[in-house]
Amino acid sequence: MCGIVAYIGTKNAYPILIKGLKRLEYRGYDSAGVALKVNGNTEIYKKKGKVSELENFCADKNTFSNIGIAHTRWATHGEPNDINAHPHRSMKGHFTIIHNGIIENYERLKKDLAAKNYSFYGETDSEILANLIEYMYVEDGMRSAEVAVRMALTRVVGAYGLVVMCNNEPNKLIAARKSSPLAIGLGEGEYYLASDATPIVEYTRNVVYLNDSDVAILTPDSFTLKTVQKDEEITPDVQRIEMSVGELEKNGFDHFMLKEIFDQPRTIADSFRGRIHPETKEVFLGGLNEVMPRIAEAKRIIIIACGTSWHAALIGEYLVEEYAQVPVEVEYASEYRYRRPIIREDDVVLAISQSGETADTLAAIRLAKEKGALVLGICNVVGSSIARETHAGIYTHAGVEIGVASTKAFTAQVTVLTLLAMRLARVHKAISDERYYNVINDLMAIPDKINLVLEKHEQIKQIAEKYKDNDNALYLGRGYLFPVALEGALKLKEISYIHAEGYAAGEMKHGPIALVDSNIPVVVVAAKDRYYEKVVSNIQEVKARKGNIIAVVTEGDSLLRDMVEDIMEIPKSDEVVTPLLAVVPLQLFAYYISVSRGCDVDQPRNLAKSVTVE
Ligand code: GLU
Repeated sequence: MCGIVAYIGTKNAYPILIKGLKRLEYRGYDSAGVALKVNGNTEIYKKKGKVSELENFCADKNTFSNIGIAHTRWATHGEPNDINAHPHRSMKGHFTIIHNGIIENYERLKKDLAAKNYSFYGETDSEILANLIEYMYVEDGMRSAEVAVRMALTRVVGAYGLVVMCNNEPNKLIAARKSSPLAIGLGEGEYYLASDATPIVEYTRNVVYLNDSDVAILTPDSFTLKTVQKDEEITPDVQRIEMSVGELEKNGFDHFMLKEIFDQPRTIADSFRGRIHPETKEVFLGGLNEVMPRIAEAKRIIIIACGTSWHAALIGEYLVEEYAQVPVEVEYASEYRYRRPIIREDDVVLAISQSGETADTLAAIRLAKEKGALVLGICNVVGSSIARETHAGIYTHAGVEIGVASTKAFTAQVTVLTLLAMRLARVHKAISDERYYNVINDLMAIPDKINLVLEKHEQIKQIAEKYKDNDNALYLGRGYLFPVALEGALKLKEISYIHAEGYAAGEMKHGPIALVDSNIPVVVVAAKDRYYEKVVSNIQEVKARKGNIIAVVTEGDSLLRDMVEDIMEIPKSDEVVTPLLAVVPLQLFAYYISVSRGCDVDQPRNLAKSVTVE
């Protein structure tokens, strides 16, 4: 969600900041701004809308500066407009800040500051924070910006990724984090700060990810790390980032989403590579090695996730229950964290999140840890908060995902969940050898089969053309393909703004069938699996009510070819890995509909890539 970029060093900061904001554009935002030190003055330029609008606005300004902070905002408090856009300046002008997150007690702080004659120009919680820092600073005799920031933060309830400039200490940046990510890239006599590593990677590979309550004080040639509470220096943990700049480009595709859909043969292979023994075919998950005995003893696995990851979690539930014979519950993190769930010490809690920063999922993790459960993570972003806060975990290795609508991260999560289920199935001796080798072999064949699905993209584009003007759609599936129906519907909703519902096909009679008439397209995921006949009956029921059916079918299915309006074929595969194939045409279908409706595919309205606020 939203983004922070900052620079301090000897280069011209402005182009670095603008490029960095563009790298973060995928996270979603509504306005952008930058603060620079120009001829000794702190100049703030900010604009509602895209980074390119900010750039146009700055075109005739003097932007030369060796230090600067920049922000893309995803409004939580106050309308997205020029005034509420960041950076924010404190009333007396001592401080300029950028802030990601939410100051939950801002009303109280605002009242207190107003009582001390502070006034405010906008509606954001962030402006209150800028003024609170200034108030502390002035009260403290304007001694130290760092002390003022640390004192202010002890009074803040909520989440922040924060970078602060102080007029009286012009060659310094102060950064802090709590529940909102912040990475610092270490250069030679320079530092790059950003919400994730994507704006940093082209300058340096050495990165420090701030932990909660960390405060970093940066000058061009010094990096001091402390915490909000303690005035003691701590040693930063420097990590190397492996991401390549190429991953951040569209590489000839029209959109990141399309590129990422086409990336899937490779990313799925990356997810299982090195985790399946080439000869014995045994699954090895290095990250879980030490905790495997405890996982093996778990009475229950609780999977926590949001959005697309929640759909992957459902597939994980089906897999683990069927093959490892361990009870599984799947929970929405936003519900779980607040509903006082029963968590026992012999539970394993597994959190799934692409970004590893999902606020609700993180809160649920903390709750589970407090209750003594073993907490595992499946996430994509290396070094993310979930990766660091869980006891152990598995990276999905899907590479940077930039399209807001998740595609390759989903298939990577499903791949990893399949590996985990198979490993547990072996540990519990609950699967026959034949079944095990079938699943593993078919999983390894998935990348080539996805290539065959991708070859048919033109055909899917034509089908999308036919249905692009519909206002509603229904998606149905059973068994392992039920979560695929949910995911297909979510993709369409997210990027084309068509109202789409996913249902278990067997649930159709319990309500959604009332929607069926000749105006609604019904997308049925109907591969040849153990549920096939049942799904065909559901298709008949829709047909009887004149619904238009688009079916995802197994190649060569002549029965359905003759029965439905449109088909999208996928190669035959073991039913438990079929979700990895069946979701691909649905991703393409949503993509092409979005494009032909003229929607912003990679940055759909109101959405953000990594949901760092609850
Ligand atoms: N809560 C702040 C605002 O509404 C920051 C939002 C963000 O993270 O972009 O301005």
